[in-house]
Amino acid sequence: MSELFKYDQEREAASAAKVRALEALLIRKGVIGSDSVDAVLQHFEDVAGPFNGARIVARAWVDPAYKQRLIDDTPKAIAELNVAQGMDGAEGEHMAAVANGPGVHNLIICTLCSCYPWPVLGLPPYWYKDPVFRARGVREPRAVLREFGVPVADATEVKVWDSSAQIRWFVVPERPAGTEGLSEAALAALITPEAMMGVALVPPPALPAH
Ligand code: FE
Repeated sequence: MSELFKYDQEREAASAAKVRALEALLIRKGVIGSDSVDAVLQHFEDVAGPFNGARIVARAWVDPAYKQRLIDDTPKAIAELNVAQGMDGAEGEHMAAVANGPGVHNLIICTLCSCYPWPVLGLPPYWYKDPVFRARGVREPRAVLREFGVPVADATEVKVWDSSAQIRWFVVPERPAGTEGLSEAALAALITPEAMMGVALVPPPALPAH
């Protein structure tokens, strides 16, 4: 995580307190039930989250034909995997995948607000909504990537994809070296939401201790 876009823990605690107060008020007023918020949280634990994106990317890594279908028609290719329901729900309409490869690195942002493919990546981190990240991601993506710890060679093209209500992008990162023998599930475990946003690479698996 870039130091630049890191928020202190106070902000997290203050937000949580506000949410609890708002929830209590809405329950008291009869607007929502006592289990409404829990149901939403459960959705992002079990149904919509980066575990879906990781499964999709791992399949793309082991099956080049699937990868091509994923790039050509992302929703249709996702539907092949029988992932949890909700792929067409909130923020899941018109998702599109772009693949990193030799000479190409992709970065997703939303210059307008915080459009993000919830079903495959979950909810976006705070810094994704930061006006500085959104502006600098477009103006100087290489500098932003460097600050995230992703050095991009001069010869590598950086493509910045602006998500919107019409289309929400995610990145198929490059498969790291040394993963040839790994199962699809083990590959999926290596894949982070940051890698699928383009602000991180997937590191090679840790070597077993000798
Ligand atoms: Fe947005």
